[in-house]
Amino acid sequence: VGGTFVKVGFFKDEKLDYVEQIPTRTEDNGKWILDDIADAMKNILQMKQVNPEEVSGVGIGLPGPVTSDGRVLGCVNLGWGIMDMGALSEKFYDRPVYPLNDANAATLGEMWQAGDCKNMAFITLGTGVGGGMVADGRLICGATGGAGEIGHFPVESQETDMCSCGKRGCLEQYCSATGVVRLAKKYIQEYENTVLNNVAEISAKDVFDGAKAGDECCLKIVDRFGDYLAKGCAYIASATNPEMIIIGGGVSKAGTIIIEAIEKYFKDYAFKPCAGVKFEMAKLGNEAGMYGCAYYVKSMTE
Ligand SMILES: [Zn+2]
Repeated sequence: VGGTFVKVGFFKDEKLDYVEQIPTRTEDNGKWILDDIADAMKNILQMKQVNPEEVSGVGIGLPGPVTSDGRVLGCVNLGWGIMDMGALSEKFYDRPVYPLNDANAATLGEMWQAGDCKNMAFITLGTGVGGGMVADGRLICGATGGAGEIGHFPVESQETDMCSCGKRGCLEQYCSATGVVRLAKKYIQEYENTVLNNVAEISAKDVFDGAKAGDECCLKIVDRFGDYLAKGCAYIASATNPEMIIIGGGVSKAGTIIIEAIEKYFKDYAFKPCAGVKFEMAKLGNEAGMYGCAYYVKSMTE
C-alpha cells in the first residue's frame, strides 16, 4: 500500500500470477482503503476462479511501523492511526491478515529471491533510505515496529542541515537520491571542470554516470556516498551479523558502482568477526514488497 497506489498481487504456487493497481483513497482518514483492496481481491479471485477458502492468507505491506504481532502503529500517509489488522480478517473473507511494514516486506521478498538466506539485511536507496533486517530467520520488527530504520543511523557529527526526522547527520542525508544531490551541490564548488556544471538540475543518476565516465567531482561524491553507506552497513553488521546485505531502490539502478563504493570502506568500519558480508544488488524492483507479503503469509501459515 503506497500513498498513491495499492498494488494487489495474486500468488499461486509461490509465483506472482497477477497484479492489479488501484488508487489509494486517502480521503476520510483512509477509511476506504481496506474495502477497496478487499473488492480488488474479490474480483481477482472471481477472475481466477478461486474460492476465498482456498486462499492461505492476505499479506499487507504498509507505510508505517508494524510490530511482529501485527499491530499497525499509524500510517501518516494513509491518514491512519493505530489499527489492529488482526481483527480485520472478516473484511478479507475470513482469511487471516498479516500486516508488515513496507520496507520490511521488501526485505523478506529480496531474502526469498536470494535463496532464503537466514541472516541478511536490505537497504533501499530511494527518495529516502529505508530497509530491514532478518536475523536467525526472523524479521526484526522491534518494540514499536521501528527496527530497520537504517536511513536515520547517525553517520556524521558535523552536519548543520536538518534531516526530515529532525536530527542532523542521518545516513539518508547522504545516500538517498536527494542526499546524493546535496553532496553534489557541496562538492561542485571545488571542481570547476566537472560535467555536473553542464546539467541544469542535477540528479543522482547524473552523479553516478559522471563517476563511471571518470569525472573527478562525481568520483569524489560517490566516494563520500560510499564512505557513509559503508559506515551504515558496519552498524548493521555489528547489530545482526548478516551474511548478505542487499541494496535496492531507485539509486541502486546505478549498478555495481554502488557496491564497489561500499566495499572500498566497509572493512575499515566493520568489526572483524562480522565483516564477511556479501553485498548484492536487489532483484525484484518494486515487486519486492508483494513477494515479501506472500512469503510472510507462507511462513505464518505453513
Ligand atoms: Zn533522520
